[in-house]
Amino acid sequence: SVEFQTHEHDVIVIGAGGAGLRAAIEASATGVSVGLVCKSLLGKAHTVMAEGGIAAALANVDNRDNWKVHFADTMRGGQYVNNWRMAELHAREAPDRVRELEKWGAVFDRTPDGKILQRNFGGHKYPRLAHVGDRTGLELIRTLQDHGIHRGIAVYMERTVIRLLKDGDRVSGALAYDRERGRWTVFRAKAIVLATGGIGKAYKITSNSWEYTGDGHTLAYDAGAELIDMEFVQFHPTGMVWPPSVRGILVTEGVRGEGGVLRNNTGNRFMFGDIPDNYRPQTAKDEEEGFRYVLGDKESNRPPELLTRDHVARCIVREVREGRGSPHGGVFLELQTFAGWYGQRAKKFDAAEHWKKKLPSMYHQFKELGGLDITKEPMEVGPTTHYMMGGVRVDADTQMSRVPGLFACGECAAGINGANRLGGNSLSDLLVLGKRAGEFAAKYASEQNSAGAVPTDQVNAAAKWALAPFDREASENPFKVQQDLQDMMQDLVGIVRKKDEMLRALDGLEKLRTRAAKVQVTGNREYNPGWHTAMDLHNLLTVSEAVTRAAILRKESRGAQFRDDYPKKDNAKFGKVNSIIAKGTDGTMQIRLEQIPPVPDELKDAIKAEANGVLPDELK
Ligand code: FAD
Repeated sequence: SVEFQTHEHDVIVIGAGGAGLRAAIEASATGVSVGLVCKSLLGKAHTVMAEGGIAAALANVDNRDNWKVHFADTMRGGQYVNNWRMAELHAREAPDRVRELEKWGAVFDRTPDGKILQRNFGGHKYPRLAHVGDRTGLELIRTLQDHGIHRGIAVYMERTVIRLLKDGDRVSGALAYDRERGRWTVFRAKAIVLATGGIGKAYKITSNSWEYTGDGHTLAYDAGAELIDMEFVQFHPTGMVWPPSVRGILVTEGVRGEGGVLRNNTGNRFMFGDIPDNYRPQTAKDEEEGFRYVLGDKESNRPPELLTRDHVARCIVREVREGRGSPHGGVFLELQTFAGWYGQRAKKFDAAEHWKKKLPSMYHQFKELGGLDITKEPMEVGPTTHYMMGGVRVDADTQMSRVPGLFACGECAAGINGANRLGGNSLSDLLVLGKRAGEFAAKYASEQNSAGAVPTDQVNAAAKWALAPFDREASENPFKVQQDLQDMMQDLVGIVRKKDEMLRALDGLEKLRTRAAKVQVTGNREYNPGWHTAMDLHNLLTVSEAVTRAAILRKESRGAQFRDDYPKKDNAKFGKVNSIIAKGTDGTMQIRLEQIPPVPDELKDAIKAEANGVLPDELK
């Protein structure tokens, strides 16, 4: 049996990004003892990379905005398969969460009269994203950390959780190794909150960092929780495509929000040629109207570059496939010079300075990584795997999964976004639902007389599994298996999907699983990335299988799921259902479709009001 240290808290939060920090703050505010575990250093979570902003109907820039419009926008963006209760809570509570963040010290960009400034983003009817230049996530994390650190939360850094432990049905702890020495720690708790982020590293081209290996998804699935909406993987339309070493790094939607335009190699603004019917009334008729919108004209509609991400990404793929792409396989994203407008009104307007102030990180990113001055030359951009709409199925109000005591929030939980997330809705989701997860986890913990037992047989079995790659004969290299998985998912279960390719992917996953069981690692347990990757493979394979199975089952195109063999939406069969995945008693992955509960009338009315008075078919 293995040696391990034990730390005990009422609530353990796994993941210290925006969701985990917000949950930990809320839980500790109720007076329970809280431990916060993360696999990198505190402050290095994915949230720190968020650029464009936090969506909340503060109505500071356009006073027509309110939570109902935000709710309706979120539902339309998600193509109505969202968990409507989560979308409602999110839209209602986001303004309070943003104001609270300000109270805790976040310094947002400001309107001339001193309110929090809000910018345009895809799929949001009004300027809605509170932001700090293009470094919003950094400010969010900084504020939460500063605020949280004074609340007596115990922080455990560079510890990776590999297994949840259970006492009967109930979750009772988590087993982690530390990066420094590879020692074992058991975190014993009455309630556990998963806040581990996404799955981007299952794909070759991604905006995500090494941390996004689907850990929370897999921990929950292995512990008996359900996963929902796993077919919906968001491919952000604009990642860098050149040079190859930085392919996939995000180019924020803020560029288009501030007036950046997409062109193909003939100079055509191709987005004007493909506007979905349900967005037509809200989209500019021509370039001039789109330009006026960007300048703040409330009578104008937004340019088609600000259609939802799923649609823009597919249009870019089409341009490239049909030979109208940029030299390195993307399209051009161009900043405006405002020559015709500011040139006449304000002679001193300096477009280059304007952009450097609005998009400082983008300016540096391209200058340093691509040797390009984006104020002078267009960027080359193409789709990149960005965000996971699917994840742990939880109750909307409490964020508890079906495993007693196991909660999830942030990107590893699911429901709120339906088939496609609107930009800016993740940071607000982290705050709103992160807070709720912390609140209800603390409540649950307080209601338990004692923590569940930590079964040492479970600890020993997991540790044995984890250490097995050290004892194998040289056979498979973990990095090679990971790379082959990423290539396969990119090619066979990417933006454009077909049944036969996905069936090949399922076969391929089976083979990769066999190979993963044979990976060998050398060296010792101290800072050994080969060993860590060997363990990550289980998570990557699990989420990849879930994505593939769910994508096969949904025989239609909706939001982020585009099926070449079923290119249309099929509301009759799939407009009112979610895919649900759970581990069967025989250990195999089981999938089914489940009806979405009916939307209450008040919310239906909010949706109708934003859809020209017509209720979408999915809600009839
Ligand atoms: P994260 O912030 O990723 O935190 C995950 C935490 O879990 C980390 O602390 C990690 O160490 C820990 N962890 C993971 N696995 C384990 C494990 N096994 N054991 C222990 N700890 C573990 N959204 C917006 O709304 N607006 C934006 O402008 C925006 N811009 C973005 C820009 C980029 C480049 C990217 C990549 C995303 C952007 N997003 C944006 C999306 C948004 O940033 C993420 O969805 C969000 O930050 C996820 O937060 P989280 O708290 O769920 O996870």
